[in-house]
Amino acid sequence: MTNALFKTPLPVNEPIFTYHPGSQERELLQAELQKQSQVCVEIPASINGNPIYGESKEPVRSPQNHQHILAHCYQCRGDDIETALTSTLEVRKKWANLPWEQRASVFLKAAELISGKYRYAINAATMLGQGKTVQQAEIDSACELIDFLRFNVHYMAEIYQQQPHSPKGMWNRSEVRPLEGFVYAITPFNFTAIAANLAASPAMMGCSVLWKPAPTSMLSSWIFMQILTEAGLPAGVINMIPGDPVMISEKLMSHPHLSGIHFTGSSKTFQHLWKTCGENIDRYRQYPRIVGETGGKDFIFAHHSADPEELIIGLLRGAFEYQGQKCSAASRAYIPHSLWEKIKDPLIKKCADLSMGDPKDFSDFLGAVIDKRAFDRIKMSIDRAKKTPGAEIIVGGKCDDQVGYFIEPTIIVTNDPNSETMTEELFGPVLTIFPYHDKDLTETIAHCNNSKYSLTGAIYGKDRFVLSELMSDLTDAAGNFYINDKPTGAVVGQQPFGGSRLSGTNDKAGSYLNLLRWTSHRTIKENFTPFTDYRYPHMDK
Ligand code: NAD
Repeated sequence: MTNALFKTPLPVNEPIFTYHPGSQERELLQAELQKQSQVCVEIPASINGNPIYGESKEPVRSPQNHQHILAHCYQCRGDDIETALTSTLEVRKKWANLPWEQRASVFLKAAELISGKYRYAINAATMLGQGKTVQQAEIDSACELIDFLRFNVHYMAEIYQQQPHSPKGMWNRSEVRPLEGFVYAITPFNFTAIAANLAASPAMMGCSVLWKPAPTSMLSSWIFMQILTEAGLPAGVINMIPGDPVMISEKLMSHPHLSGIHFTGSSKTFQHLWKTCGENIDRYRQYPRIVGETGGKDFIFAHHSADPEELIIGLLRGAFEYQGQKCSAASRAYIPHSLWEKIKDPLIKKCADLSMGDPKDFSDFLGAVIDKRAFDRIKMSIDRAKKTPGAEIIVGGKCDDQVGYFIEPTIIVTNDPNSETMTEELFGPVLTIFPYHDKDLTETIAHCNNSKYSLTGAIYGKDRFVLSELMSDLTDAAGNFYINDKPTGAVVGQQPFGGSRLSGTNDKAGSYLNLLRWTSHRTIKENFTPFTDYRYPHMDK
């Protein structure tokens, strides 16, 4: 019996540990990195609370040393997917009927476990498996993930509190039901927090979830799955099903009970999933909610009134942190000639100084790109740029995959705002700069706006009239817009994240807007003065 309107703990953003030399956190994380480096984990699928070790398994390699196999991940077969589906659908009713505060408790407990006991384990797994430096892992797998869990519990309670107006004589109520059926969460490699949140947020709202993580993020995904179990998530509410995405999607997306897709990844994959939904529309018992956050071609637009030093740091951090593998990473920049002349040399010098290496060495700024496929794709783009008239690589450009998948932070200068590296997502440490004539501000804004993507963007300048003009002219160019700041690093509860155009459905992860997509409201009207006559006044003689 629950006779109370509970208040959730007020969330605050998780403090970011600095891991400075001599700190206890640094020592503990280094010990954990050492420990995880010396073992090869056997990662099962997790179905109905059971670890499933199937027949075939795939290696999980370290991006910074591809001969180092960190884990083997078992691949689900068709019958495992059937078992996962059955258990998910069975547990759905019980989970959906559980009082919401019981669900909240599970995820608050998970946040606490990550904040304390598992912080170093999940950070180390993200560093070793996904190639993040300590800073990048800490803000992702620890802080952002904890924030997602705590803030979403708070937003969930706020959603439940929203109630309609009730005039005299009646009581109107709104009841927030989880979606019927199951949600299919398909997650990317580049953020442990995003992957975890895509599975956790529909589950928090009472849905049951089948979660297919990216093969290259299995080490951290498996740790999160174990944390959820320890936090008391009932068996089957989230089943983790690694394996062939095509086979898994064919089975799940043709199922009548598919009620939602929660995706983050490339635009191409998302378009494929959306089409598949369309092809199967006659089979479904409901219209599946389709939520996807996808690719980006994120910009920095500078005006000549910008502070040169602030701009240089914005460019370097925005473009090269996590090897440019953030969906929000700056990958094109528009800089007026007058400013470009001032910043070019110091930018080249600072960029050449960025140290790259194994994240176990805490002194490095960036590491290797995720895998061979990414390495080859980015290298080919750099090679094409080298041969493109009007494009010049002013720093970086070397690629070396002998030990790990290392690509130097690379800056290309182009005289063509429509060139490949100014328009296509590369998802690597490559920034292309288009220096524009100061007098061509308006045309250059139009070039910037003319992108098929609209995820993040930043403007730099001090002139208020120009800042205002840029904000207005670039209204549709980015879902997350920054003024005098790099376009990366959105914080849960502060800058809800998502973009439009081909960058996604803009359902803003880290806000109530995303959680609403996993709900289906029931409106209830209770009449305290029911009518006793069918006749209306106009019918009186
Ligand atoms: P990806 O599209 O290659 O993979 C994403 C997921 O989809 C993985 O789990 C993968 O196994 C799965 N997948 C691939 N093909 C599939 C298919 N045919 N059917 C079903 N599932 C399939 O993307 P990625 O390389 O993991 O991530 C990088 C991309 O993600 C970039 O484009 C980046 O911009 C985007 N991203 C966007 C955001 C955002 O919030 N907008 C955040 C992170 C990453």
